[in-house]
Amino acid sequence: MPELPEVETMARDLAPLLRGATVTDAWWDWEPVIRTPAPADFAARIRGRSVLDVRRRAKWLVVDLSDEAVMAIQVKMTGQLFVLPAGTRHDKHVHLRLTLDPGPVAGGATCPGPRWLLFRDTRKFGRVGLYRRGTDGEVLGADETGELFGQHGPEPLDAAFTLRAFRARLRRRRSRLKSTLTDQSFIAGVGNIYADEALWRAQLHPLRSVGSLKRQHERRLYAAVRAVLGEAIERRGSSVDDYTAPEGDGEMQEHLDVYQRTGLPCRRCGRPIRRLVLAQRGTHYCSWCQRLPRVDRQGTNARLAAGATRAAGATRAAGAPRAAGATRAAGATRAAGAPRVARRGRNWSQLGGPDGPD
Ligand SMILES: [Zn+2]
Repeated sequence: MPELPEVETMARDLAPLLRGATVTDAWWDWEPVIRTPAPADFAARIRGRSVLDVRRRAKWLVVDLSDEAVMAIQVKMTGQLFVLPAGTRHDKHVHLRLTLDPGPVAGGATCPGPRWLLFRDTRKFGRVGLYRRGTDGEVLGADETGELFGQHGPEPLDAAFTLRAFRARLRRRRSRLKSTLTDQSFIAGVGNIYADEALWRAQLHPLRSVGSLKRQHERRLYAAVRAVLGEAIERRGSSVDDYTAPEGDGEMQEHLDVYQRTGLPCRRCGRPIRRLVLAQRGTHYCSWCQRLPRVDRQGTNARLAAGATRAAGATRAAGAPRAAGATRAAGATRAAGAPRVARRGRNWSQLGGPDGPD
């Protein structure tokens, strides 16, 4: 799933292709791809708007349009964007198509004629919405009161995101490192790949509690998060799964140290990289380089036992891994807004299961 570096690459590729162009038409073959407003309104309101710029916020693409309009695109798991000459054949996975009049081309080049911006999405989780820009440049939500990105944490690569700011946020948390880093309200844009990579670089165990960190650990983690994201942007992101950018694939996948390297030797100590399942995602780490402090090992065992008791009715104290499966199955239907305690319990109950979807 594209994370900050991948979406940033898409934005940087799209900006020179779209800037100055005017949207003349919108076509879709599947209504839910347009989140807001209703598709007919979307088409009516986007027609005639010109593209001022393309940028990224969190894992969203933000297309600034004329007249205070903003098109925000959430690419989710498999969303891809392409800019091609209008009339180019495309497959059935393109669900939204905007026709663009290219407008004046910089440098006096000849006008290449109308183009299409294609949103292709095989799994159909991606969404596109048309919003309004507030007076301070913020993107207003669909109801035009709250901010669309109000629930997101700061951008980890912003100059304002200092070590001091990171520390202050971190010390308000009580969770484990992996779930903290991937929580979009903590910092924006970090997902499974770069959380694993940053924790390996910082030599911190994914299950380590935030509260067990010393000052030097906080500093190491801060530096690792920023370094790995910066490097990934330079390499145009990691082309795993369906990710590609308008100007081609990334190459960060060839430079990842732990993600999807289960069983391969750790590049630091040579021991095999391990994998465990947390919140239904694979977590990759080196158990030698990323030690779990004693205090967190105890906490882990206690939670494991508690999870087993809840799931199996206190009869399987020794069978935690089996019971964990039952808890996972029960938890899989829980809504995203489930209470925090329940979500953590579910994460912890999965410790025993080394196998699972990545
Ligand atoms: Zn190692």
